[in-house]
Amino acid sequence: MGLFSKKQDIEEEEEEIEYVLFQGATNGKEANLEENQKLAAAGLPIAKEIVSEALAQRADLFKVEPQGPKALVTYYVDGIKRPGPRLPIQQANALVQILKLLSGGDIKVRDKPQRGGLNAKYRDLPFELTVKSRPAPPSKEAKGPAEQLTVVFRNTKTKRATPEDIGIPEVIKQKVRDYATSNAGIILVVGPPESGLTTTALCALRCVDSYMYQCFIIGNLGTRTVLNVPIFKQEEGHTLEHTFMRIQRNEGNLIYMAELTDPAVAKDVVKGSIDMCFMAEMYARDAADGIARFVELVGDPALAAEQLKLVISHKLIRKLCPKCKEAFRPNPKLLAQVGLPEETETLYRKARPVEPDEKTGELPEPCRACEGAGFRARSAVFEMIDITEDIKGIIAGGGDSAAIRQQAKVEKQLNCQKDALRLVLEGETGLDELQRVFSPPGGPRRKKKPARRRPPE
Ligand SMILES: [Zn+2]
Repeated sequence: MGLFSKKQDIEEEEEEIEYVLFQGATNGKEANLEENQKLAAAGLPIAKEIVSEALAQRADLFKVEPQGPKALVTYYVDGIKRPGPRLPIQQANALVQILKLLSGGDIKVRDKPQRGGLNAKYRDLPFELTVKSRPAPPSKEAKGPAEQLTVVFRNTKTKRATPEDIGIPEVIKQKVRDYATSNAGIILVVGPPESGLTTTALCALRCVDSYMYQCFIIGNLGTRTVLNVPIFKQEEGHTLEHTFMRIQRNEGNLIYMAELTDPAVAKDVVKGSIDMCFMAEMYARDAADGIARFVELVGDPALAAEQLKLVISHKLIRKLCPKCKEAFRPNPKLLAQVGLPEETETLYRKARPVEPDEKTGELPEPCRACEGAGFRARSAVFEMIDITEDIKGIIAGGGDSAAIRQQAKVEKQLNCQKDALRLVLEGETGLDELQRVFSPPGGPRRKKKPARRRPPE
């Protein structure tokens, strides 16, 4: 507490800009600024400036990527890129190094990925910054090893999310409860990186009554906790298999595994799931992709298919700004086309661009709540693949993610696109946003044409 506060006060008086206050690494490791005075002098001002600007813009994260003699700062607000400043490479290096130091990392190590946590305060709100660095591709201009940086923000004051808060549909909650209490099998929760996967996965865990069923967590969740679900400490020298057996002896019903990436761990989980239920989070584009990755980790399609019970996935979509969204009456053709009930009377869309004043030619002030973006904050939509006999057969037979996705569609299982219509009906988002999120890359429904041959010149 109070770290750098004196300097901040001076800066605030001079520039009247509110700066972030760094409050120490989440792992308790104190940054030795005495020993790194030069780095502190070069890195602290720019770190405070960039982090404060990101928070002022309500960014979910920002990235620093070296490009030749400069490094690009990019802010991501509601998942949309906003360009930040281009920094000289030396200054960018100082920025990366100081954030590594403040978040409990090792500044001498620059050739391996690192991950740390940093507590901060901005406008009286507490934030946790996840600081991730990794070596950048070598370049002549960089003069020594350069690193890429990603800093992810989490407002720790936001109350612990419940399945209801994030809108997990009833059908998914019920499936989770059914499988989680059956003392066998695996539930996977998947999503893309930086999409709030852990929040969704912990909400899935909170669907289970932890007073009726004894759940344990294995792995690191940072500062997050789940009521009545303790983290199970692995004894030194104990294998994972041994740890699972100890949990079983402690009458555990369910084990939650943070981030599944290691094939050996995945194999142990499959073995363990014969007489205990597991829930695990894993990075993947969607549920079908998650199944394919899991099969790859396990290395045995038949065994993976036998033990996997349910895969949940999410996507984030932008919510319309409540201050400036526009209501309109949709025509019946549009409703039929997107699959909304024909009696729907009102839908909402992003405010249309403001026209300049006829007399003065001046543009009116943009909406203050969203700075004219038309959107503010994001909401999750969900997808679920219940491993039915048919899907099990496809997985066991070595079917790819496209075959699994197709079968889930035939079985009319819940997908993100369908679930997103719920938010459209509630007026939370608009059809344009759905089109942006769910259109295949390269534009909506573009047919594959054979390459046109250029006429000879
Ligand atoms: Zn607005």
